[in-house]
Amino acid sequence: MIPFSPPRMDQRIVDEVVDTLFSGWITTGPKTKKFEKMLTAYGGHKVTLCVSSASAGLELMLRWFGVGAGDEVIVPAYTYSATANVVVHCGAKVIFVDVNADFNISLDAIRKAITSKTKVIIPVDIAGFPCDYDALNALVREPEIQALFNPVSREQIELNRILILSDAAHSIGGKYKGKQVGNLTDITVYSFHAVKNLTTAEGGAVCLNLPAPFDHDEIYRYLNAKSLHGQTKDALAKTQIGSWRYDVIEPGYKYNMTDIQASMGIIELERYESDMLVRRKAIFDRYSEALGKFSWAELPLFETPEKTSSYHVYLLRIKGIYEDQRDKIIQEIFNREVAVNVHFVPLPMMTYYKNCGYRISDFPVAFDNYSREISLPVYYNLTDDMVDTVVKSVIESVQTVIG
Ligand SMILES: *Cc1c(COP(=O)(O)O)cnc(C)c1O
Repeated sequence: MIPFSPPRMDQRIVDEVVDTLFSGWITTGPKTKKFEKMLTAYGGHKVTLCVSSASAGLELMLRWFGVGAGDEVIVPAYTYSATANVVVHCGAKVIFVDVNADFNISLDAIRKAITSKTKVIIPVDIAGFPCDYDALNALVREPEIQALFNPVSREQIELNRILILSDAAHSIGGKYKGKQVGNLTDITVYSFHAVKNLTTAEGGAVCLNLPAPFDHDEIYRYLNAKSLHGQTKDALAKTQIGSWRYDVIEPGYKYNMTDIQASMGIIELERYESDMLVRRKAIFDRYSEALGKFSWAELPLFETPEKTSSYHVYLLRIKGIYEDQRDKIIQEIFNREVAVNVHFVPLPMMTYYKNCGYRISDFPVAFDNYSREISLPVYYNLTDDMVDTVVKSVIESVQTVIG
């Protein structure tokens, strides 16, 4: 069986993790701080806070911005559940909008969904392909849209417009007009979950890139406390001579990253651009080269003059098929010992959100993308021979089902 996305694992990662395990300090400490600095240097944004997951990071930043009951947050209908669930956790209302043929959130749909209650937009770089950040950043600064904004919290008053909180769970290393994802909008959140491009088993990072007059060092200190029960000192700081006393400034969360996780991230990030992304791109190119010969294959967009994907997963669509045919094709592919997947079942189709009253018929592009989509595996140890096996099984399976 060709698996879908095993993590890259080797002696360098093992050595770095073991170094941490015997260092005398295994939770948030020097390795986490080092990883944060490396992420800041890589992304080119202003400051990075490592957290326990992307979900934690997204929720932390919604709460930092003061999002709660009565507020609306715009989320694409086509994403993983975390993007919307964190909005529900904060007590705010999820406003789903439709997406484009490139799988990313539609600017026109966002424009129609904005009201005086809108506080945040969460674009998602699906499969690693960056959204239209220039257009998104311009949209929230349009005078008529800015005039609708109803600031309540100190942070909302300071920003005085809708916040863009990018869900970059797929897209670390993606580029837009020469800039790294992380540096494209107000706040960007990466995921280091086990199936993501760069993994720490579980983990995430918040990249801050707010406009003036936000003070990034002050916000970083505050978020450190907010992600650690509101404590003014972390556990390591408290062990220093004369430093046992600390304060609790608010009932914060427990969202910190451990040094064990950060150890994996440090090694992965060192070789991410020069090695991991190079291999992933080669796999994408090999899929497109082989599948592009077939008239039934609709290949994903992953490179344009302005945008470069992080090559997270290869989202193949089959032209002119229905959902049940797609499901049959997937079964045929599995029968040939190849694991594939679907990214994603749109959230309005999920029981919880259906019961909230959302209808998939309001999101026709999301449904069309989903109903014809098959995600092909992409990971460091997927060899060219394995890619060819995946391609062969896809071709045979499509021909078996649609003739
Ligand atoms: C994986 C994923 C997340 C959640 O990441 P975690 O680190 O597991 O919390 C959020 N959004 C999208 C689009 C994802 O794919």
